[in-house]
Amino acid sequence: MPAPADTESPDWPARARALVPRGRAIVDGLAVDALSGQTFDDLSPVDGRVLTRVAACDAADVDRAVAVARRTFEAGAWAARPPRERKRVLLAFAEGVLAAREELALLETLDVGKPIGDSLSVDVPATAHCLQWFGEAIDKVYDEVAPTGRDALALVVREPLGVVGAIVPWNFPMIMAAWKLGPALAAGNSVVLKPSEKSPLTALRLAEIALEAGLPPGVLNVLPGFGPTAGQALAAHPDVDGIAFTGSTATGKRILALAAQSNLKRVSLECGGKSPNVVMADCPDLDRVARASAFAIFFNQGEMCSAGSRLIVHESVKDALLERIAAVARELAPGDPLDPRTRLGAIVDEAQLTRVLGYIEAGRGEGARLVLGGSRRREESGGFYVEPTVFDGVRADMRIAREEIFGPVLAVATFRTEEEAVRLANDSNYGLAAGVWTTQLATAHRLARAIRSGVVYVNCYDADDITVPFGGFRQSGIGRDKSLHAFDKFTELKTVWIDLT
Ligand code: NAD
Repeated sequence: MPAPADTESPDWPARARALVPRGRAIVDGLAVDALSGQTFDDLSPVDGRVLTRVAACDAADVDRAVAVARRTFEAGAWAARPPRERKRVLLAFAEGVLAAREELALLETLDVGKPIGDSLSVDVPATAHCLQWFGEAIDKVYDEVAPTGRDALALVVREPLGVVGAIVPWNFPMIMAAWKLGPALAAGNSVVLKPSEKSPLTALRLAEIALEAGLPPGVLNVLPGFGPTAGQALAAHPDVDGIAFTGSTATGKRILALAAQSNLKRVSLECGGKSPNVVMADCPDLDRVARASAFAIFFNQGEMCSAGSRLIVHESVKDALLERIAAVARELAPGDPLDPRTRLGAIVDEAQLTRVLGYIEAGRGEGARLVLGGSRRREESGGFYVEPTVFDGVRADMRIAREEIFGPVLAVATFRTEEEAVRLANDSNYGLAAGVWTTQLATAHRLARAIRSGVVYVNCYDADDITVPFGGFRQSGIGRDKSLHAFDKFTELKTVWIDLT
């Protein structure tokens, strides 16, 4: 968890009041209402109040936006532009994001309740860096010539899919959008982006910044709206070539089914997790392990797909480690997300708050031992806050060990042997991330190979760089975000045979 940002604008609440968030969809370069005229209330979890009313787009809006995206794509308005020019536009887009740093950070914090220090120092820079990195790749990635022999030339070229639907969640609204937009736009696609109904504001602002940066109208369209209406219509649309989705596993399965029932569009899924964080008896310095393990579950209020939500610790170091994790967690009392000193903000909405508290009740009911937290906090603010919570004595069959909570709740289990640690770590339907703490090189390599997950962090947690792929095994997803591997989601491979005889 990064330190609170050194903000030059200490009066964030006054700035928040002065901000008039926008709530109209962006289609063909214009801010438009939903065709039905319907809107929905966008509430802030900071204080439970309505921020603004937002266009409630549905199937008709999806038809309109997909038609625009198709027309733009076929006209070559973006894909046919010289790579160097497209690079310049994406770099200007990234610069525009940085220039709007405070506005975007404020919108993100008001919309989802994350601490303003994190929005400023993590979300905005990571969004800009992602766009910049994929922009830079546009004129640096080459296609292939296959080693077929002298009688023929076989070219293997990547082409954009065409029209891409991007459906993203609310926990990192801007970053998740950028992980799709960066490679999708770099590859030359036209995009219809559907942000979560819980966090539509920064996606709308990003589309405006993209237009200002020179992205042709119609290449990036943003439709706020609900999953079962706008999201479903996008996933089922016969003229959408691919869906890039981040969200829950349950929704991911629905999207796969809709793709199968419609036009067999390409589907990539970044779904949920229940990630193990394995601490061996020979782990490095316990203070360091405790700090990283606490941040692995409490950063972003635990609303992290990769959260280290299952601490699997050798019985000989468990008590000492839990004592230290509790000490770190006590520094993380939930606070006002607009206060730059706050490290733990609000849960995204009342439904998610109820879900998290429900899991805490389930943990108690199933016999896990509550060693820290367990309660709602700051109720008088009108917002939705939960204190860092730790359960010890968690059995692998308990709901808090099996289901993704997506809140600041840590489930702790112990082991005696390495085999037992691996068995516990792999006892999950998910396989997104895992932590391993050991001072033995061979143990680190053995565990990194044995654990079934898309990412393994050794003696760290949540290490991050745009150059490395991110995604899951099993029901955590299909495909990878970030790095050049992300282009697999947004391009078709074409083989061109040329007879040389
Ligand atoms: P969600 O599945 O409820 O919603 C995600 C998106 O899908 C939203 O835009 C929503 O409107 C849309 N949607 C919902 N129902 C739909 C339907 N029937 N058809 C089409 N679209 C639909 O998930 P969420 O609560 O917004 O996000 C939390 C989940 O996201 C967690 O499970 C978390 O692990 C996951 N996540 C994964 C990653 C990753 O990289 N693997 C990253 C962040 C979040």
